[in-house]
Amino acid sequence: MPHRTNFLLSQLAPDILTQIAPHLSLVNLQAADVLAERHQRVEKVYFPHSGIISCVVELLGGDAIATGMVGNDGAFGASQALDDKVSLNHVVTQVAGVASVISADRLREAASEFPLLRVLLIKYEEFLFSQVQQTAACNAVHSVQARTCKWLLRMHDLVGVDLPLTQEFLARMMGVRRTSVTAVAGVLQKAGMITHSRGRIHIVDLRQIRDWACECYGDNPVALSTHVRFWRASTNEKDSFDDW
Ligand SMILES: [Zn+2]
Repeated sequence: MPHRTNFLLSQLAPDILTQIAPHLSLVNLQAADVLAERHQRVEKVYFPHSGIISCVVELLGGDAIATGMVGNDGAFGASQALDDKVSLNHVVTQVAGVASVISADRLREAASEFPLLRVLLIKYEEFLFSQVQQTAACNAVHSVQARTCKWLLRMHDLVGVDLPLTQEFLARMMGVRRTSVTAVAGVLQKAGMITHSRGRIHIVDLRQIRDWACECYGDNPVALSTHVRFWRASTNEKDSFDDW
């Protein structure tokens, strides 16, 4: 089933996924597509299979800081759909890709019908919240160089070694000046860890980038899997999920 290359959808037992599959459609997300506007109702929920969705906080002074990335290990809009809430951020496609999309209304109905789907989505939101907290601590304590390496690892998880990534976007992810990122990119390139050209970064030495990254990377897909695994182990409903 094509929807299973998204981690969250892959966790659903075949009978549950079969029930909601008719309501899922595969869509191509183009870079800069706006998926939600701040304070507007979320109409659709996206489960990416490739590419990256970014949540952007826009400040009154005109600055825009990307505060979160969603890739094939997550979803955008699920928590808002569950409670019929508005989006708190401007949400755009950062890197083009493919996603399974379902209407927020239908997902809410499905979550009522299948409680374990609802809990899975809540567990994912708990994980996202923990990541936001970790990022707050990271921004306060860790160096721009270590944080740059952390984001490169996260992007590598979602896209691979060739990153359609501008230094400006990296600066927005970290809330620092672009010149700071440019200086770090120069250091990483000189050390043979990356090459970069206009709008692209190519990862050359992943191991070295792991060595230089701060502790906050934590290997996101593994961390999310572990979070879900602990929850599944604590329930008596393990058979309602597919093995992974
Ligand atoms: Zn950190």
